[in-house]
Amino acid sequence: RRKHKLSESELIAKILAGDKVALSRAITLIESTNPEHLPKANEVIKGCLPYANQSIRIGITGVPGVGKSTFIEAFGKHLTSLGKKVAILAIDPSSSVSHGSILGDKTRMEELVKDEHAFIRPSASGASLGGVARKTREAIILCEACGFDTIIIETVGVGQSETAVHSMVDFFLLLKIAGAGDELQGIKRGIMEMADAVVINKADGDNVKKAFLAKVEFNRALHFFPPKPSGWQPQVTTCSALTKDGISEIWQLIMEYITYTKSNHFFNHKREEQNQYWMLETINEQLKGQFYQHPNVATHLEEIKHKVAQHEISPFVGAITLLDLYKNK
Ligand code: GDP
Repeated sequence: RRKHKLSESELIAKILAGDKVALSRAITLIESTNPEHLPKANEVIKGCLPYANQSIRIGITGVPGVGKSTFIEAFGKHLTSLGKKVAILAIDPSSSVSHGSILGDKTRMEELVKDEHAFIRPSASGASLGGVARKTREAIILCEACGFDTIIIETVGVGQSETAVHSMVDFFLLLKIAGAGDELQGIKRGIMEMADAVVINKADGDNVKKAFLAKVEFNRALHFFPPKPSGWQPQVTTCSALTKDGISEIWQLIMEYITYTKSNHFFNHKREEQNQYWMLETINEQLKGQFYQHPNVATHLEEIKHKVAQHEISPFVGAITLLDLYKNK
């Protein structure tokens, strides 16, 4: 069963008309590693850009098992019940290493998958976090052009992926669960500093009291952190993704943040900085792609890597040799 190939302008028109199938296809195009697809992907992104930016972008992180999928399902359903259109994208660089996603199977979001006003896209895979992050950023643009007004970027609390997500969202939410008095251990300080809200999930049943104590402890800890450039004091709250307690309050909190940072202009300032960063990242990624795909480089890369491993040439000489091969097309 062959798919009819849509031209770039047909794809753009369908995306702008809110067609989720076209949106999926365009994201697949962006994620393609086939160099022939790159100009087409760039064309589609350019066509969508004028219609982007009209959304709230929320990053959600947390270690496996805290309930990210369950939370996003409950939170996403709440948003669609308010008439919002919600797109969920994931950044999971581990999938390129392990060939299995630690973010798990998104079809677990059973309700949201069926929701007409939701779009769920599993993580892009790629050789590098930079590559995955760039694709996600481009996917955000396409989702916004397709009419999604709330974008959720999910990532897992390992490695550098939080920093990548932080560089593309307006609001960063850290999902936690109450432990046995060790709340503050095991989270990297950097992640706490990035968080605009810490949400303690699974505050239900026997867990309610523990969750409340964790909230007090986190609140105290957050007050010792340096003030954020946004001027916003990060908030700690509890919720249950199962019973949906506290879910609507989290949306309220995010709205408060948006109002606050729009009035002190931090919201736009942050997006401007993110755009500059995005431009530089795009150059880095596309140049790197061109370098490795160049026939001279492709032909000699393995042989030069071998020589470096055998101490026949130094890593520096190896790099210069390859760069010269690239430059002397
Ligand atoms: P993820 O790995 O962070 O995506 O976590 P999941 O959403 O897959 O949840 C991990 C487990 O925690 C599942 O068995 C969920 O049913 C359970 N879970 C998630 N949220 C809650 C909650 O609010 N309360 C309780 N009691 N269990 C939850």
